[in-house]
Amino acid sequence: MEFTLSEEHRLIQETARRIAKEKIAPRAAEIDETQEYPHDIFAAFKETGLTGLTIPQQYGGSGSGMLSLALAVEEAAKYCCASGLMLLLSALPTQPVMIGGDERQKKWIGEGVASGAIKGAFCLTEPNHGSDAANLETRAVRDGDDYVLNGEKMYISGGTVADYIVAFARTNGTPGPKGISAFLVDTKSPGFRVAGQDRKMGVRGVPTADIVLEDCRVPRENLVGGVEGAGFNHAMLTLNSCRPVVGSRGLGLAEGAMTYALEFARKREAFGRPIADLQAIQFMFADMAIQIEAARMLVYQAAWRVDQGLYTREHAAYLSIAKVYATEVGVKVSSDALQVLGAQGYMMDHPLERHYRDARQLMIVEGTSQVQRVVIARSLLERELVYP
Ligand SMILES: Cc1cc2nc3c(=O)[nH]c(=O)nc-3n(C[C@H](O)[C@H](O)[C@H](O)COP(=O)(O)OP(=O)(O)OC[C@H]3O[C@@H](n4cnc5c(N)ncnc54)[C@H](O)[C@@H]3O)c2cc1C
Repeated sequence: MEFTLSEEHRLIQETARRIAKEKIAPRAAEIDETQEYPHDIFAAFKETGLTGLTIPQQYGGSGSGMLSLALAVEEAAKYCCASGLMLLLSALPTQPVMIGGDERQKKWIGEGVASGAIKGAFCLTEPNHGSDAANLETRAVRDGDDYVLNGEKMYISGGTVADYIVAFARTNGTPGPKGISAFLVDTKSPGFRVAGQDRKMGVRGVPTADIVLEDCRVPRENLVGGVEGAGFNHAMLTLNSCRPVVGSRGLGLAEGAMTYALEFARKREAFGRPIADLQAIQFMFADMAIQIEAARMLVYQAAWRVDQGLYTREHAAYLSIAKVYATEVGVKVSSDALQVLGAQGYMMDHPLERHYRDARQLMIVEGTSQVQRVVIARSLLERELVYP
């Protein structure tokens, strides 16, 4: 068993840490307040090759893998969870293609995303189908050499800045997951429309959009993998493979929140001495560190599993455990860190109320905490997760 990072992983971590400290930290509060997508931060990611970490070398990336992405996202999320999401979006709308696409699609999306020339968005959720995505209603009807898509997608991260989306749509009358296919849709296609942008609690630097597809014509060759009915499987494998990276957003956020509160506690005095001298406060920090280290082990191990190809259904529980634990640690630690600051923690002069608002997103996106527990319980009952 080996617990040290490889030289490559360490270099990626250092690069991301430098960008986080020099470029993200000074801008984090402003990004939240203005709610504007930070193109300068994206430029720093692309210039340093961080947008191609999970894309294989033959398709333009470094092929470094999901653990590398998790490490980079952790660094960004220490200061700005939205910047962590920006990096995650180099994988979420790319993985369906890398998992199920044909050579042309892999080259197109891989080279575009890795170089930072294009950005994608992952469009699964609909107004009436979130957790219940297997029953989604968007339709794709074959017409000559095209498919014509009609439907609505909700809460789409990066939807307003995307150059392409992966849209999941029903291609035949088959109900449930077997009737779902994945399509690559150029956002300049007639019939593609951003119908609105959400006003939201946190992670405001990455817009969340309502997307309407209205007689949106997509060439037949943009059906992912050229296979109808494989889309739901692509979506689930994509979500499984990205779970550790959502977890690393929670991990980084918790580390950033704890570190900030610790520096505050060393200086803030009450009853004639720094509050860091109070055992009640010290134990809060000890508990934060325990949770952070447990989350780190789960996230890194889960990301390593993805890099070994262990992200199919029978391996899903480990990925869900990492996601649910690390994201809930993000919420708990940011809440406790805020508490350490007292009234000041509640004010926008400090980043902790932002960290707390941002953390709440993580328990909902890419499968809620409840849905992760459904996956874990299923794995136990089906004897996939066993302790012999
Ligand atoms: C900021 C943000 C960004 C997002 N980005 C994207 C994106 O880029 N692409 C995309 O496709 N989607 C995105 N989503 C949507 C997100 O994936 C869904 O919100 C999520 O899957 C839950 O779906 P829902 O909101 O419809 O809740 P519902 O499915 O309606 O669930 C409501 C409640 O019921 C619980 N519940 C539902 N089913 C079960 C069950 N079987 N067992 C136990 N409890 C259950 C849920 O945990 C939740 O508490 C985003 C959401 C947010 C908030």
